[in-house]
Formats: sequence, structure tokens, C-alpha cells
Amino acid sequence: MKIINSVSELRNEIKSLKASKGGLKDVKTGLVPTMGALHGGHLSLIEKCRSENEIVVVSVFVNPTQFGPNEDYDKYPRTLEADSKLCEKAGVDFVFAPSPRDIYDEYYFTHKETTLICPPYDVVNKLCGKSRPGHFDGVCTIVGKLFNITKCDRAYFGKKDAQQLFIIKKMVKELNFDIEIIGCPIVREKDGLAMSSRNTYLSNDARKLALNISRGLYKAKELAQKGVKEADTLIDTALAYMGGLDVEYTEIVSVDTFEKIDIIEQGPCKALMLVAARVESNGSKVRLIDNIDL
Ligand code: AMP
Repeated sequence: MKIINSVSELRNEIKSLKASKGGLKDVKTGLVPTMGALHGGHLSLIEKCRSENEIVVVSVFVNPTQFGPNEDYDKYPRTLEADSKLCEKAGVDFVFAPSPRDIYDEYYFTHKETTLICPPYDVVNKLCGKSRPGHFDGVCTIVGKLFNITKCDRAYFGKKDAQQLFIIKKMVKELNFDIEIIGCPIVREKDGLAMSSRNTYLSNDARKLALNISRGLYKAKELAQKGVKEADTLIDTALAYMGGLDVEYTEIVSVDTFEKIDIIEQGPCKALMLVAARVESNGSKVRLIDNIDL
């Protein structure tokens, strides 16, 4: 496994590994984009990628363009050494761990602007995007750049970031990227808390409170399975578990369109309940997200 910082080096390494594996045509490259502080959720993506591709690239990059001015860009956990060990064990070929200057042109540092990929307003300015203006533009921009850098055939994303997955699929379709996007199931701790790099911020008490997010979601699902179809009732049920949390949104949307729905349809995986909530921990607020199909 190689740890690579520069774009040109990664391109050369992928090219020569491809050639050494018998030519350019049937050798597939899989990409797992991450911000590092890897956990079991990331690992599940990496393992799936490893099982389906000849070449596996994991990017570890805390992307400045997807963070707002008052967000946790500076304090976001950076654990490249441990991440690399995990990747090595999982059989990754290349860990791509660039610095912002390896990724963004000098213009970005002098003008605080760069060329962006901006999905439609209605798609990015709801749910997570409502409280994080510009977030999904930053996400699409870095993901688009990683697609161009790696020339990957497949890319793996977690369903935990459901809106992100929806937006990336849309971007790939609308910008004609010749890449297959694979969505992977949410990996949870034994008690149900969705794994997240931000869980490392949580004190013991905050973690207990955070668990109420998944509890609420599971309770709503239970009710939906018993036949309750009204979104408001299901949302109220989930919210009843989330006292003590600063809930930013709880919504039910269609998996296919991400439009809000009032009555959930019959059949599996048509409706998704999504939550974003902030938990007070050691004097600051930790923003967590989770979702469940109803
Ligand atoms: P991040 O490092 O948080 O940007 O996440 C990188 C990728 O890992 C994204 O596609 C996430 O959706 C995915 N991911 C993060 N946490 C989980 C989880 N608990 N289960 C599955 N995928 C996850």
C-alpha cells in the first residue's frame, strides 16, 4: 500500500498498477472518498470496494470547501497514521491524503473562491443543506475532483449521509460522469448509534443522549411496520425520544426524489426518515445525523 499526497503521483501510480494488472480495459478502479478518522462505517465501504475492484483508492481529505465558517474544520479529527494502518489491513492499494494545497489551486487561497459544482438549489438547500449553506457545493466539487483525479470506475458512499448520496447520484447523472455510484448500508455501534467520526467528540453523557436519535428512528420504523402511514405521527413518535437534543430537523422524504411526503407508501424502502440533531458535549455542540428506511 502506498500513501500519496500529490495528484500527479497518484495518477502515475494508478496508471502503472493498471498496466501491471494486464492492461487498461478490464482493470477496474474503486474509490472510497472519506475525511479520515476511519471507523467501521468507512471500513464496510472499503471492504465492499476491495471485493469488487482490482484497484482500491481511499481518499483521506478534510475538505475545506464543504465546511461553513463556524463549523468544525479546524478541530475535525485527523488520524492519518491509524487510518493508514486500517487501510493497509483492508488491502487498500493507495491512500490518497493530500493537503488543501495539493487539491486546490493557489487562486482559492488568495481569493477564497474556486470553480464549484453546484447542484440545483431545491436539492441542496433543504435538510442538511438548510443549516449548512454551500456544504453540498463543496462536497460535489471535491467528489468531482476525486473522480477526475482517480478516473475511477466505481465509487462507494454510505447511506448514513443519505442526502449526500442522493445528490452525488444526481450529479453523476447530470454531468455524465461514467462512474457507478454504490450506496452502502449504515453501520451502527452495538447499541444502535450510527458510527461517525464526530462520535469521538462525545462525552459519556452526550453519547447516552445521542443514542436517542437511533432509538427514535427505530421506534418510528416499528410503528410504520404496524401500519401507521401518516408522516406527522411517525415524526412525533421519533421526536418523543429526542428530548435533551437540539433537533435541527426530522423529516420523511421519498428515497427516489427526496421530496417531503405526508403519507408513506406501501412496500420496502420507499420512505426515509432523516434526523439531524445537536448534542451538547464538553461545552460545545456536536452535530449528528442519522436516518432509517420505513
Ligand atoms: P466521512 O469521512 O464522514 O466524509 O464519510 C466518508 C464516507 O463514509 C461517506 O460516504 C459516509 O456516508 C460513509 N460513512 C460514514 N459513516 C458511516 C456509517 N456509520 N455507515 C456507513 N457509511 C458511513
